[in-house]
Amino acid sequence: MNNKIFPVCVIGGGSAGVMATLRTVLNNDECLLFPGTPKDKKRSRAFWVSKIENMPSHFTFKKGIEDPNKEVINWINQNPFSEKLIFKKNEGVEKISKNSDGVFEITSNKGDVYFSQFVILCTGVMDVQPEINGSIGPILPYANVQLADYCLRCDGHHSLGQNLTVFGNGDGAAWVGIMLKERYDCPTVTILTNGEAPKEFSEDVKKLVDLYDIKLNEDSIIDVIGDHRKHELIGYKTNRGEEIKSGFTFISLGMIIYNELAIQLGAELDARGFALTNSQGETSVKGLFVAGDLRANAKKQVYTAWDHAVDSADKINALLRSQKRQELLAQRQ
Ligand SMILES: Cc1cc2nc3c(=O)[nH]c(=O)nc-3n(C[C@H](O)[C@H](O)[C@H](O)COP(=O)(O)OP(=O)(O)OC[C@H]3O[C@@H](n4cnc5c(N)ncnc54)[C@H](O)[C@@H]3O)c2cc1C
Repeated sequence: MNNKIFPVCVIGGGSAGVMATLRTVLNNDECLLFPGTPKDKKRSRAFWVSKIENMPSHFTFKKGIEDPNKEVINWINQNPFSEKLIFKKNEGVEKISKNSDGVFEITSNKGDVYFSQFVILCTGVMDVQPEINGSIGPILPYANVQLADYCLRCDGHHSLGQNLTVFGNGDGAAWVGIMLKERYDCPTVTILTNGEAPKEFSEDVKKLVDLYDIKLNEDSIIDVIGDHRKHELIGYKTNRGEEIKSGFTFISLGMIIYNELAIQLGAELDARGFALTNSQGETSVKGLFVAGDLRANAKKQVYTAWDHAVDSADKINALLRSQKRQELLAQRQ
């Protein structure tokens, strides 16, 4: 065990984690980065993002988060700030606690223990997938070519003029259908509860569902009709043999929130499990900052994750500089 106390530890190597790392090293603070194990990576949103179309200068990347993130780590490693980055490639964090000196004790998946004064936690979330015949396998090839999407701001525009289906039930899914119909003039909109009992719509939603002739289908979906290799989604087959037309699908089934480490530290969460923070990202646990999708009350977007990460790294740098300043002033007296 190395007893060195790092000033900053970043946990997570997606949008927020890499931006937190870049800002920390450019602030000339040493940064211990755990990007996660291959398993952490595969269950992260970053891994599944292909083309990003809602951000300037991102159109050329095939993997809109992973490719630029690799470029950032390579860039840091090729310039004088490289000595500020301790990159624990393919390592994740399994356990975290705070010791009696207020220092974070971080245990990696290899069982190694590290210490850090501040932590920026960026472990993100994952969208829940619809199961078709008991498996998420059938929908994934369509998600990979962006014919099935999860994020309105990222990919809602793919529904332009398409027959739309929305996986989900209740008001949330209905609002997605209403908004996409209004924005992109989808000729048909069908909500697929996929065998789940639908939740009763609120009065406002009922009126709009009626106005836009939004259909509700409660059958189980047993097959996807289309050919993802030709970038073609035609629709879905139900257990009652019906075919539902759909050129584009939106999935509105909620999120899995990777808040285990925040919970281990006793950080305050909202009712859904997102970490509550102040405007600079500090949680109810002193020194624990959260950036990216895991943070409550924020858009779940790359640019938001970047902004969070910069605010947190800058706040930590201000605290570290203040600490050094006080030490220097004390030495003078
Ligand atoms: C299909 C899809 C398309 C999207 N398209 C867009 C888009 O076009 N534009 C846009 O702005 N946003 C888009 N998003 C949203 C975007 O992906 C997220 O907002 C962004 O990735 C959030 O960054 P994050 O760092 O919080 O999480 P992520 O980028 O998901 O990163 C989480 C990281 O945490 C790591 N991790 C997890 N557990 C541990 C652990 N215990 N120890 C160490 N590391 C751990 C993982 O390895 C991963 O590196 C899309 C999302 C999806 C799913």
